[in-house]
Amino acid sequence: MSLRELRVISQDVARTALDWLFPPTCLGCGEEGVFICPECFSKIKLVPRDVCNFCGDYVSKKGKCPNCYDKKLPYAGFRAFAYYDGVVRKAIHHLKYQNDLTIGRYLAGLLQLVYQRTDWDVELIVPIPIGEQKKQERGYNQAERLAKPLSDLLNIPLSCDALVRINEISSQVGLNHEERRENVRQAFIAKALQVKGKRVLVVDDVFTSGATMEAAAAELMGAGAAKVYCLTVAKVNHLQDSIDFSLTNNV
Ligand SMILES: [Zn+2]
Ligand SMILES: [Zn+2]
Repeated sequence: MSLRELRVISQDVARTALDWLFPPTCLGCGEEGVFICPECFSKIKLVPRDVCNFCGDYVSKKGKCPNCYDKKLPYAGFRAFAYYDGVVRKAIHHLKYQNDLTIGRYLAGLLQLVYQRTDWDVELIVPIPIGEQKKQERGYNQAERLAKPLSDLLNIPLSCDALVRINEISSQVGLNHEERRENVRQAFIAKALQVKGKRVLVVDDVFTSGATMEAAAAELMGAGAAKVYCLTVAKVNHLQDSIDFSLTNNV
């Protein structure tokens, strides 16, 4: 047996031992062995494919919804895996606060599926950076934990310093879209050397108002990026009460 084979086997043993000691449990029901079991997975509210390309709110036609129609947005498209609810909300909470690398890899697999359904031809993946203070408190940037495995899965280069957060964003709670936009203005600096002429994919955990993505994309475009696309695991569903999911049968 070669040293390499031995190493592979011992890694497998170590991984199995870890899984045996700390098996993942379903975030929805607690079943052992997976982060989301098939039954809980089937209850996830996936973002339908024919939502607005810019805000992800539900529309029956492709392209821009009435809300985004007049807006000049700096990114060329936005997609999210599911609505920020139930087991998906729990998964993001786990990603943010449990310092567990495996959940990032798991969620990156879901992002890969969403990306593969787009016609985006991206050359660089960039996570939304968090401020220094937050990074010190948490110990890591949760968006990086998604972007890194996604970069591996898609075989697209990653840069964690092409976009830097220079201003801590104060709480966005209670602000309307315009106020949020103002709040995150000049929050980022993009490095032209890394992004110039490139189609860039910005990755984050949650898309709330879109203000953060807008600010990041504007800065990347300002630094010479050819196009910016945005991808998140979840999207806050502002129309939660008014969306009729049965509509999916009619379009
Ligand atoms: Zn479950
Ligand atoms: Zn829209």
